Amino acid sequence: MNALLSDWTTAFSLPPFAQIADADFGPAFDVALAEARANIAAITASTDPADFANTIDALEQAEALLDRVSGVFYNLSGADSNEAREALMRDLAPKMSAFSSEVTNNKALFARIENLWQARDDLGLNDEQMRVLTLYRRMFVRSGALLEGAEAARLTEVKSHLAVLGTQFSQNLLAEERGWFMALSDADLVGLPDFVIAAARAAGAERDMQGAVVTLNRSLIVPFLQFSPRRGLRQRAYEAWVARGANGNAHDNRAIAAETLALRQERAKLLGYASFADFKLEPEMAKTPSAVRDLLMRVWEPAKRTAEADAAVLEAMLHADGIEGPLEAWDWRYYSEKRRQAEHDLDEAALKPYLSLDAMLAAQFDCANRLFGLEFREIDGPFYHGDVRGWEVTRKGAHVAVFLGDYFARGSKRSGAWCSAMRSQKKLGGDVRPIVVNVCNFAKGEPCLLSYDDARTLFHEFGHALHQMLSDVTYGFISGTSVARDFVELPSQLYEHWLEVPQVLEKHARHWQTGEPMPKDMLERLLAAGTYDQGFATVEFVSSAMVDLEFHAGPAPADPIQKQAEVLEWLGMPRAIRMRHATPQFAHVFTGDGYSSGYYSYMWSEVMDADAFAAFEEAGDAFDPEVAARLERFILSAGGSQDAEALYLKFRGKMPGVEALLKGRGLLDAA
Ligand SMILES: [Zn+2]
Repeated sequence: MNALLSDWTTAFSLPPFAQIADADFGPAFDVALAEARANIAAITASTDPADFANTIDALEQAEALLDRVSGVFYNLSGADSNEAREALMRDLAPKMSAFSSEVTNNKALFARIENLWQARDDLGLNDEQMRVLTLYRRMFVRSGALLEGAEAARLTEVKSHLAVLGTQFSQNLLAEERGWFMALSDADLVGLPDFVIAAARAAGAERDMQGAVVTLNRSLIVPFLQFSPRRGLRQRAYEAWVARGANGNAHDNRAIAAETLALRQERAKLLGYASFADFKLEPEMAKTPSAVRDLLMRVWEPAKRTAEADAAVLEAMLHADGIEGPLEAWDWRYYSEKRRQAEHDLDEAALKPYLSLDAMLAAQFDCANRLFGLEFREIDGPFYHGDVRGWEVTRKGAHVAVFLGDYFARGSKRSGAWCSAMRSQKKLGGDVRPIVVNVCNFAKGEPCLLSYDDARTLFHEFGHALHQMLSDVTYGFISGTSVARDFVELPSQLYEHWLEVPQVLEKHARHWQTGEPMPKDMLERLLAAGTYDQGFATVEFVSSAMVDLEFHAGPAPADPIQKQAEVLEWLGMPRAIRMRHATPQFAHVFTGDGYSSGYYSYMWSEVMDADAFAAFEEAGDAFDPEVAARLERFILSAGGSQDAEALYLKFRGKMPGVEALLKGRGLLDAA
């Protein structure tokens, strides 16, 4: 009996994780794909004229089993991979791509949608149905439904090849991250705070080593670069970190990047667009490459001026240490941390005992309770890994969702942090409640203590989770985070603001041993330091976003590394700052289509989140019930049921400028 295919009689119809074997996935995908194909064939075989129910409703339901199997598998393959799952990923990439092309190339199916589209004003559709029909038609047209013959066949080939390249890129990166570590002697630990030493020892133990090691996991290497006084070790670790995917070995991503860009350009041309960026940005809030470039450049200049002023201060500190020559990239975090301690007297190591994972979880749940009346009750597993925790989410006693948290770094997990829905909310065919997962890569400890950045990541991903859990739409196609890419980071980045509300940390940031609240002056210094080093962070980000945009806004570069250098030269990239993600590691852009010519979206969303939080400030209460109700009604529950710009206008009454963002990042003085 294949547990993926049987009825799930578990509490909340959770996947029966303990019964699911890796060997079940392949056959389950085969059955689910066959069932989806049969359902779609039944739609097109109908001799009844197309109507909304027999075409769009039916299409929405056709892939129910496939959605169920995919929901479990793709979460596992990212959060807890192994060889069997990786092999299946490679097998599935072309199969899934072929299936989705088959659907969007289905002429009979498109003809029915086109008929509905032409007759749309006479169908008596409600607003949500009209939106869903519009989006389905757009999806088909953008997938090439209007192409014929050789062009249609070539487009299918290009897309399937792109999917394979994306998987290779991701697997290469994982292999590179797994493959490198640097052993630390006892002498090398001098100057490192206890939490870094503990994390380095845990990383060593995971590799069956006696002592401590530094790995390329962001949550270990970044604090190492911040605290290690040994410049040579910092340089070695940093250079290994930025060389991921560019080591000239079997896991080199540079040729994959070049091929990906060429195929994307070909895809856009086939569909009649001037460039891949023009194609990609059409359904976004930004709409055009020039709108994106304009936004990025308005932020770039003040950010660069701030960063250059900071670089001069840090370089003077380097020279004061008796080291000659310029400030290098592996020096920035170290001297910046020293300066932070000197100027803001904020000691990350002293801060962390107040930011235990449990305390910050309580904080994120408490905010959701005060804003939206949600309640969280921890439930027992088993879930898909022993580290995963689960909560039932209710409101006024009614079930809302199941929320899973998978917080610790491990070798089987890809890097970064993300939110995924193992099951999405919808009402068509029954009231389907979501199962939402937050995955992070915090260094495991007893207890797990977070940096302030980690706590922000926790809140960020939980903002995405709220977007899924509070979703209230009929059609799965527009559920939760199924919104424009440059709108999807609004709920997550907005939620980070509540971490900065003093009463939240006053209540929840308590020392894990003594239960004492964070000392008042520490809290004040922490909140005042919010804009610290934002020149660096903004330069890191905007340079990555510009390289991504310019990769896609014109002809595909034959040598992306060369193109990257040209863009950075044109920008006047400060010497001691590198892109947040250089090309061979730029997973957002190359492991799939999600953020290709879309990395800017975080900043686009930040413009909105700064402005959206100002709505609470203007109301005089960070938990103002009326503003919270508007936020839920027009943004968190609305999914993609309306155009993003329309939703934002309904929530806020106006569109934002970049000023709130520059002010929030402390870059306004430099502007
Ligand atoms: Zn996000």
